[in-house]
Amino acid sequence: ATVGQIIDGKAISEQVKSKVKEGVSQMIEKGYRAPMLVVVLVGSRKDSMTYVRSKKKVAADLGIVAIDKTYPETVTQDELLQEVRSLNKDDSIDGILVQLPLPSHINEEAILTEIDISKDVDGFHPINIGKLAMKGREPEFEPCTPRGCIELLDRTGIQIEGKNAVILGRSNIVGLPVSMMLLKRNATVTICHSKTPNLPEKCREADILIVAIGQAKLVKKDWVKPGAAVIDVGMNTLDNGKLCGDVDFEDVKPVASHITPVPGGVGPMTIAMLLNNTLKSAQKKLIK
Ligand code: NDP
Repeated sequence: ATVGQIIDGKAISEQVKSKVKEGVSQMIEKGYRAPMLVVVLVGSRKDSMTYVRSKKKVAADLGIVAIDKTYPETVTQDELLQEVRSLNKDDSIDGILVQLPLPSHINEEAILTEIDISKDVDGFHPINIGKLAMKGREPEFEPCTPRGCIELLDRTGIQIEGKNAVILGRSNIVGLPVSMMLLKRNATVTICHSKTPNLPEKCREADILIVAIGQAKLVKKDWVKPGAAVIDVGMNTLDNGKLCGDVDFEDVKPVASHITPVPGGVGPMTIAMLLNNTLKSAQKKLIK
């Protein structure tokens, strides 16, 4: 049996990105404009600024136009809603992404709900999430990090249908949507969270274990069924400045069939899926 195979998220994200780049070139060759993404950033959180910068850089590498609209921390909810409405109306824009978190005086739900679902490349609009949850419905776009997890499984040849999938974490941006995607793909899904008793026991039932809780190295080898595939979404900064996942990688690797490292696992997939969604949006809109 396979043991300790590392899922190389960096390499797989390069495959996805080169497909996107190819799709963009084909559009341009046929005389269409380049896909365009607008990133709305509020305030000057260091982490948010870093994410926005790397989204813009990777977009540019793939031929996608990405611009940011940056607002001071003091922007009002109404001003932000106006911005989103004007981006909705602008036909030259294919994707609108509001960088989260927003300052506490702004209602995140109000802003995300205002985004036109046909431009919701982050996939966080309640209608898109709702369609994701419903049998027989398809969202316009799927959220990027969860989609990245599925892509890692698929491109590694890990079967989903009929498997027991256990998800640690139920956030709107990772745990919940990835659970719904696995359910749609005919896995049997168990969702765990901070109030779940006997976590190690629950996790040991998993053929596919997805961890998105934000607790450094919480998952140990005795939480993992031998031969399970382990996807670690966590990104935690240790005291020494190093990044680590929610899974104790060295401990779990000898037990798992496949495991994602942190960094270099799920992380690189997120931006790749975002730009894939942006391309898809432009294709849907422009190519009749
Ligand atoms: P949230 O803080 O929004 O949600 C965490 C979830 O984990 C909650 O459902 C919470 O339960 C649950 N949880 C927390 N602690 C425990 C515990 N000890 N045992 C069981 N469940 C627990 O986090 P996110 O979903 O936004 O992010 C999760 C991790 O993924 C973070 O490390 C984040 O940095 C990373 N991340 C990585 C991305 C990437 O691109 N690679 C993108 C997004 C996030 P409850 O609901 O009961 O509170």
